[in-house]
Amino acid sequence: CGVVGYIGYRQAQETLLQSLVRLEYRGYDSCGIAVVDGDLKVFKDAVRVADLAAKAQPLNGTFGIGHTRWATCGEPNQANAHPHQDCTHTIAVVHNGTINNHVPLRSRLKSQGHVFTSDTDTEVIAHLIENHYHGDLASAVRSALAEIEGSYAVAVVHHHEQDKLVVARKGSPLIIGLGQGENWVASDVPAILGYTNRVVYMEENELAVVTRDGIKLWHGDNEKIPEIKHVEWTAE
Ligand code: GLU
Repeated sequence: CGVVGYIGYRQAQETLLQSLVRLEYRGYDSCGIAVVDGDLKVFKDAVRVADLAAKAQPLNGTFGIGHTRWATCGEPNQANAHPHQDCTHTIAVVHNGTINNHVPLRSRLKSQGHVFTSDTDTEVIAHLIENHYHGDLASAVRSALAEIEGSYAVAVVHHHEQDKLVVARKGSPLIIGLGQGENWVASDVPAILGYTNRVVYMEENELAVVTRDGIKLWHGDNEKIPEIKHVEWTAE
């Protein structure tokens, strides 16, 4: 299973699918991508990445997120594949990990009028972010994650904030790959090798805002200077 994200100048769809293929070794039962092409467009299904790539219509957008799922909550099917969205379809979330308190969160969100379209624990994250969103995605993600018990590596995009990905981790790995005018996020280094060898390994309880030109990183509430590592790789 794996999380990927891209923001830059390339076609995000192609880049995300290529990164997902490079995470196939982690195993998965479903996959999906969300690309901002005017609207937020989501393609997902319980298929191999190559099959999703073959049937997804071409999207014209330079940022988005992707996921390979290893189901822990809800059977492998199209509705349960990630990305997951809020009721307004302006937010998309991919998540690795498990949310232990998703049952009470889901029933509270439902009583507040949220309509769920999957059986996953992950979908509560999208609805929690929707609740906390007042124009700043990073603070909405931070507040949503504060309500969650469990493990996560998440990547989130918002249709109205087309200059950033918001990512966070607790209990599941996440790295950021740094380019020139483009940046990546991924569960593991192989997803981004070939694009860049400059990597920031996120630590527990860290949240980052990734833009085309840089990253801002917080450890808990404290902003922190990212430590950039150079990883070795040889071109294939
Ligand atoms: N718990 C989530 C689900 O079942 C994420 C699984 C994963 O890590 O791929 O959809």
